[in-house]
Amino acid sequence: MNPDHMALATVHSRIKAAAEQAGSGPVKLLAVSKTRPPADLRQLAELGQQHFGENYVQEALSKQRELADLDLQWHFIGPLQSNKCRDVAQHFDWLESLDRRKLIEPLSRFRPNSRGPLNVLIEVNIDTESGKSGCAPEQIHTLAELITKAPALHLRGLMAIPAPHGNPALRQAAFQRMRKLFEQLRHGYPQVDTLSMGMSNDFEAAIAEGATEVRIGTLLFGPRH
Ligand SMILES: *Cc1c(COP(=O)(O)O)cnc(C)c1O
Repeated sequence: MNPDHMALATVHSRIKAAAEQAGSGPVKLLAVSKTRPPADLRQLAELGQQHFGENYVQEALSKQRELADLDLQWHFIGPLQSNKCRDVAQHFDWLESLDRRKLIEPLSRFRPNSRGPLNVLIEVNIDTESGKSGCAPEQIHTLAELITKAPALHLRGLMAIPAPHGNPALRQAAFQRMRKLFEQLRHGYPQVDTLSMGMSNDFEAAIAEGATEVRIGTLLFGPRH
């Protein structure tokens, strides 16, 4: 399936309905484009989509080169290895997966002045799954403090990928814990405005718990192979 007008329009109207029901402000749509060919991204961009999320640095850089004529915002959302900090700092607008302190100094050092600060979300391992990326909720405060002190980073909020719960009540509880952490963080750092949670199969539940950004791949581009 190619990303088409209908897929995008349907996602937009479902987001809008969920946001209205939750009484929240506008919710940003991040189109998650990992493994998709550049032509699919271009098609979506021509329909007005501006924010794209990528998980693999090399794949993303090659798409960015191919789509350099478009005015797009690139979000890095995959696990980040230290040796890729330079590429992310130089070529992305957002990093949504900062989960340990050792990434902070190189990200800030490699950020080119000309691009302005890198927008950063702290990724939280909200279901404390072993082997998963994301920091423990107890670490958020320390990371937030260090990010705020880094001259070329701009702390914007939190991101989470809850465990794939079969049980909707457990998933809802994970989103609720994120909302609470987000509100606590915003209390200390008023510039914080982004809570990134919810994917193709659970974005409405995430919006009901206060997500300000949802990350959607499958519903826009079809199943990944
Ligand atoms: C792949 C991915 C998504 C999108 O998942 P879909 O189920 O295809 O919507 C969202 N967030 C992250 C971090 C991802 O890796």
